[in-house]
Amino acid sequence: MAKTRQGKRTLDSYTIKGTNKSIKRNSSLPLRSPSEGRAGDCVLMRAPDSSNPPYVARVEGIEAGARGGVKVRVRWYYRPEESIGGRRQFHGAKEVFLSDHYDVQSADTIEGKCFVHSFKNYTRLDAVGNDDFFCRFEYRSATGSFVPDRIAVFCKCEMPYNPDDLMIQCESCYDWYHPTCIDMAVEDAKKIEHFFCQSCTTENGKETEKSHNGSKQSDMKVDPKRRRR
Ligand SMILES: [Zn+2]
Ligand SMILES: [Zn+2]
Repeated sequence: MAKTRQGKRTLDSYTIKGTNKSIKRNSSLPLRSPSEGRAGDCVLMRAPDSSNPPYVARVEGIEAGARGGVKVRVRWYYRPEESIGGRRQFHGAKEVFLSDHYDVQSADTIEGKCFVHSFKNYTRLDAVGNDDFFCRFEYRSATGSFVPDRIAVFCKCEMPYNPDDLMIQCESCYDWYHPTCIDMAVEDAKKIEHFFCQSCTTENGKETEKSHNGSKQSDMKVDPKRRRR
């Protein structure tokens, strides 16, 4: 345990009050990409207004104070509604953004441990628990901008993928579609075995201008053409 000049002790772990769960500080390794995320070491912290959901944070350091109190250095995850741009249609219910906003908080405000998955791992979860979240963007809290600022879009509505919404894939162009955007009932979409989108079933070959899955990009700042709320 290293001693700092202030006489505070750096701790490697902390057991959450009233639980047997312990949290560990992160290694100093930088993230290789914002979407990668790190499982573990993420916590839910009591919001000052108890009617709000708990804050999501990543623990970056743990210190024991002189009078026995434990402080955690955290990097906040923002929920979409906490961002300048607000929640958008393509944001998942469990989506959070890794912000550049750091803070020091009393460890007493930690309610529990949670898991912030990469987008890919989140979509592969068999079941999403209360404490499962995902992160695919870093967020600059001063400007409200995102990294990456461009993201693949799908469907006729040209929206990024929201993992909470069912989509079906065209077997010809490999684009993904929301059933509602192609006038299909969700129940029918769940049952359909082979799907070809409208442009792939029309004869005029217009679909050749359509690119393959993932190559379409949308600037995050540009509102989608058909935004519905
Ligand atoms: Zn759509
Ligand atoms: Zn198609």
